[in-house]
This record gives sequence, C-alpha cells and structure tokens, in this order.
Amino acid sequence: MDKLTIRDVDVVGKRVFVRVDFNVPLEDGKVTDDSRIRASIPTIHYLLTHGARVILASHLGRPDGKVQDGLRLRPVAERLSQLLGRNVPVTGDALGIGTVDAVRRLRNGELLLLENLRFHAEEEKNDPGFARQLAEYAEIYVNDAFGTAHRAHASTVGIAQLLPAYAGFLMEREIAMLSKLLEDPARPFVAIVGGAKVSGKLKVLDNLLAKVDLLILGGGMANTFLLAQGKSVGKSLAEHDMVEEARRVLGLAEKRKVRVILPVDVVVAKEVTRGTEYKTIPAEKIPASWHIVDVGRATLELMEEALAEVQTVFWNGPLGVFEIPSFAHGTRAIARFLATRADAGATVVVGGGDSVAAIQQQGLAERFTHISTGGGASLEFLEGRELPGVAVLLDRPKPEPAAKPRARRRVAAKAGS
Ligand code: ADP
Ligand code: MG
Repeated sequence: MDKLTIRDVDVVGKRVFVRVDFNVPLEDGKVTDDSRIRASIPTIHYLLTHGARVILASHLGRPDGKVQDGLRLRPVAERLSQLLGRNVPVTGDALGIGTVDAVRRLRNGELLLLENLRFHAEEEKNDPGFARQLAEYAEIYVNDAFGTAHRAHASTVGIAQLLPAYAGFLMEREIAMLSKLLEDPARPFVAIVGGAKVSGKLKVLDNLLAKVDLLILGGGMANTFLLAQGKSVGKSLAEHDMVEEARRVLGLAEKRKVRVILPVDVVVAKEVTRGTEYKTIPAEKIPASWHIVDVGRATLELMEEALAEVQTVFWNGPLGVFEIPSFAHGTRAIARFLATRADAGATVVVGGGDSVAAIQQQGLAERFTHISTGGGASLEFLEGRELPGVAVLLDRPKPEPAAKPRARRRVAAKAGS
C-alpha cells in the first residue's frame, strides 16, 4: 500500500485541511492523555514550517449532532498551543461566516482548529453538502487521523473525494507498520490477543492465523476457547454462542500448523471487584461460583518461553481485568516482557485502547516499536479490510514496469487500495 504523503506536494501558501484525531479523554476541562495530540505534531509542524495555511479538524466524543459545551475543543487547543509553543485559535463552529472569514485570513505558516465536527449530524452521515462546505476551506486535504480511518464520514471520505488527498506522517506510519505485519513480518511472528470478547475479534483472528507462527490467547476471550476445549469456566465472562466459532478457529490453527497457547492456570475471584477473595488454580477445573480474572504464573512462563526467539509481535487486548490492580499482573508482566523483546530488536506493535493504556500506566510506551493510535482501525486493518479513509487517499503512481523487483510490488498493490 503506497499512498502519497505531504512530502509529495508543494504546500507553500496553500490552504490545507488536516483531519486529525483529537478524540482525547477529558476531565474537568483538561486533557488527561495527550498522546493523540502529540502524535499529530510532526505533520502540523511540517506543514507550518513549509508555509502552509493549516485548518485542523477533529471530532471529540459523541455529541450526536448537537452542540455540547463539555465536548468543545478548547482544552485540546490549549494543550496543542503548549506543545507547539504558539496560540491555536478554535472557531466557534465548524461552519458559518465567522469560520469562513477566519480561514480566509490565515497567512502562510498559520493555523486554526475547527470546532468539534460531530456537533453537525452531517459529519457522521458523510453528507455531501457538509463535505463540500469543508472542502471549500482548502486546496489540499490531509488525513492524519488513522483512528477514524475505518469510518466513512464527511471529514474522512466525503471531503477527500473533492480535494487532492494525502496521508500525514502519522497515517503513513500506521499504514507502513501494520502493512508490514501482514505482508512481510520477520519470523517467528506471534499474535497475542486478549480483551473481553471473541465476537469483535473473530475476523482478525481468522486473518492473522494465515500469517502468524504462534497465537497466544488470554483475557476474557480465552474463556470461550477453554469452553471450546470442553473445560468449564464457572461464572467467568464467556460467549456461549461463540463456542462453535472458537472451535473452528482452533481447527483452522491446527490445519495451518499454528501453535495456540491458552491459559494453563488462571487467577479466579469470587467477584470481579476490588478487595474480593482470589487465588490461582489450574485452568482444568474452574469451580462453578468463581470468575477467571487473570492468567496465572505458569501461563506467563509458558508465554515468555514461547516468545523468547520472537522477531515480530502484534498484541491486542489485556490478559485480565487489569483495571483492578490485583488482576493486572498478567497484563503488566507481558507488557514488561514485550518491552524487553523490543529492546532486543524485535518489532513489537500494539493496538487497542486498553492494551495501550496498560503499557502507558507502566511508562513503557517509548520502548515499543509502534503503538497504534487507532484501536478499532488497527483491528479492521489487520482483518485485511480496506479502510475507507485510507482507500480515498491518492496512490503513489506505479513505477515503470521495467524498473526493479516486481514480486514485492505486486504484493504491496494487492493489500493496498
Ligand atoms: P483493547 O481495548 O486493548 O482492544 P478490549 O477492549 O477488547 O481490549 O478488552 C479490554 C477489556 O477486557 C478490559 O476492560 C478488561 O477488563 C477486559 N477483560 C480482560 N480479561 C478479562 C476477564 N478474564 N474477564 C472479564 N473481562 C476481562
Ligand atoms: Mg477496549
């Protein structure tokens, strides 16, 4: 997949509409995690220093087409102003005469931020009229919001069909890192999939099984697989209507000769709450009135042993109910272990809001090769699906057929758009 990026276009004096992902957590009018804002800085900085007039646009939360004062972008603009060391004005509305005027007054190397796009219901409907109004602000469109690239909205797809559309640096990096996992991973390649449910991750499991050498399952979703193996899981979270699917996935793994590691011992708790009674037991016999809340020490050892030689890892989903400190051990331990693998030169990519949070809680983020800013988008990408917000970006023209290795190119073009 080879998309044109902002390096491929002359932006001096041009008005550039940049779709960013500033959908950040807020508390009392302050941004509590600014990683998505920081991730957009290289693109914004590049455009400003190359003389563009930058119009930033994002959604925040789910205002469902109505103005909600608690979801205004002012706190985001304040944080961005600090990071850029300059004032970033926010318009009162994404549309309207005042905004049109503010855009017109932008000079080279200046920027502004449009108010929350989702204050207009037309944004999520990919309304053509709304997309046209946004497109009128600019001559060039840039998408740096990988986290919303799996949604066909006015600011991710509609506008990109009306303007020459380029990838920002963050988008470029996300596509490059995730494509590499699917197309050309260094081996052994291991996927670690945890989290709450099998249902949301079946398609990604199917697609990854065609790529990986080893699949490690943990978290709530592993319970459904334990059921598929004929074990009981007590009162644990499990999807009884997914047991057949889980059995099919295990069969597929066997056919493809992909080793699957499931928990061999687990932490069980009386209740899924803080301060409850808990203990570690073999995964063979879970008592009827207990809940599985984490993987046990023997399981961790098994996983770490299997990961010793690994060259590429994709991790999505915590191994336990990591929000409760007593049940966070497995998730935290695997995060620390993967950081050491990355230190040793392995490519370690993490996607998924909760897995990323677990890494950030321990201050390990810097050590990983890539932390995807888009949970849902990264999973859809790894399902092998074409993301609508990526598909609309301009493709890099194919080089003359006489040039260079062809086999590689063909693979890239197939997985691309
Ligand atoms: P991500 O955001 O990384 O993609 P998910 O959203 O799929 O991950 O899953 C995260 C959730 O899974 C967390 O809230 C965690 O508490 C829950 N979870 C993990 N293991 C279990 C378990 N054994 N029982 C119940 N919930 C679990
Ligand atoms: Mg999640």
